[in-house]
Amino acid sequence: MAAATDNLIAGATGDWEIVIGLEVHAQVNSKAKLFSGASTEFGGAPNSHVSLVDAAMPGMLPVINRECVAQAVRTGLGLNAQINLRSTFDRKNYFYPDLPQGYQISQLYHPIVGEGEIEIDVDGDAKSIGIERLHLEQDAGKSIHDMHPDYSYVDLNRSGVALMEIVSKPDMRSAKEAQAYVTKVRTILRYLDTCDGDMEKGNMRADVNVSVRKPGDELGTRCEIKNVNSIRFIGQAIEIEARRQIDIIEDGGKIDQETRLYDPRAGETRSMRSKEEAHDYRYFPDPDLLPLEFDQAYVDDLKTGLPELPDEKRARFMADMGLSVYDASVLVVDKDNADYFEAVAAGRDGKMSANWVINELFGRLNKEGLEVEQSPVSAAQLGELIDLISSDTISGKIAKDVFEIVWSEGGAPAAIVEERGLKQVTDTGAIEAAVDEVVAANPDQVKKAIDNPKLAGWFVGQVMKATGGKANPQAVQAIVKAKLGL
Ligand code: ADP
Ligand code: MG
Repeated sequence: MAAATDNLIAGATGDWEIVIGLEVHAQVNSKAKLFSGASTEFGGAPNSHVSLVDAAMPGMLPVINRECVAQAVRTGLGLNAQINLRSTFDRKNYFYPDLPQGYQISQLYHPIVGEGEIEIDVDGDAKSIGIERLHLEQDAGKSIHDMHPDYSYVDLNRSGVALMEIVSKPDMRSAKEAQAYVTKVRTILRYLDTCDGDMEKGNMRADVNVSVRKPGDELGTRCEIKNVNSIRFIGQAIEIEARRQIDIIEDGGKIDQETRLYDPRAGETRSMRSKEEAHDYRYFPDPDLLPLEFDQAYVDDLKTGLPELPDEKRARFMADMGLSVYDASVLVVDKDNADYFEAVAAGRDGKMSANWVINELFGRLNKEGLEVEQSPVSAAQLGELIDLISSDTISGKIAKDVFEIVWSEGGAPAAIVEERGLKQVTDTGAIEAAVDEVVAANPDQVKKAIDNPKLAGWFVGQVMKATGGKANPQAVQAIVKAKLGL
């Protein structure tokens, strides 16, 4: 683990430590809403996915969606957390035009998932981050203020959609750790297929709690920065907010516990309101809903059905395929990337496959802003290319050219090599002839090389050039040395 001092930031009165805890709101992958059968589909016409329950018509009763419960339990298992066989729903009361019920159904007193932990990696150092709880709750609708100068509109399509709120312990000590945590949570949710993790669409968002203290002191007063919607902004908001708090304290002031907003354009956090406490919401158990109860067999059954999770996959890539921790970590962050790699590596050298996938393919995809599903080079094509290198049919250098051809024109690597005459020349007769030619044309270089054997490399380069990079470099080297008598 990194020394704690790595994360300290300097102030006028000495070093400060940042303390961070995150509340991640993740929209549950489910066809229907948490307490109604209305669709959760994104992008429908306003108010087209609204049942009488979501519109809070008098007398309508909520009915819990079994699939949302299963998704929350799966997520809890993926976070190595305690699953509570009995949980309850509470009303969180507040007024807002996009909340027709006048309250949000949430779980305050007895959440469905209790304490857990996940491991994050920052610059090669592993650290465990505690999970406080996970609870189910409803999303609100959306107010639209910018369609007409005189009116505001309300779209209830999101009203009642299931959210999981995942609350961490205040265990993070830097912006990087918080970013690694959110990335890891998102990876786990995506592997589990319990949330798509799409922060741009608002399907996953984070409230970021930040405080500062002198190392060893008690926790300081925190501010909560609401609804930060990208991993980059989470990092920026933390650093800016910590600096603001340090400046206030060092000027002799004190931090007010409040809810703030991060404005990326202004590069500052701004106060929204003073922090509300649980009692401000008049929480009470929802009388329309019975306690949610299930047995251990139900949990065990869901556990048996879980897919391989990123930590397990990483361990397997390292143990079975000989990958470094770095390569394995890069590959497992995204499940589609890991699947692509596995398809390439099946029956092939793991390290060589990892190199090609990470350096060539991912490098190229990044440059074009593409995801692996959009790759013009399929796993089968890349595998075939690697086979051509392994069988010494082509050199690694030519393989990069073939990769480019497959990328832009498509086609089978073996056929491309055949058609364009790119096969590696291992025939010593042909190489000898090329070496003889270069030697005969450069008597001065020959003399120099005899005095200084390091210059033999120049001849190897010339022969490679003369053969269009197709000569086997080891064979060229051996023949050059023999011809020059080195
Ligand atoms: P609330 O629901 O009022 O926001 P919680 O007790 O659920 O409050 O805590 C919210 C988050 O704040 C948690 O992720 C927790 O880890 C974090 N947190 C609590 N105290 C601090 C602190 N002093 N500094 C930073 N984060 C904190
Ligand atoms: Mg909160």
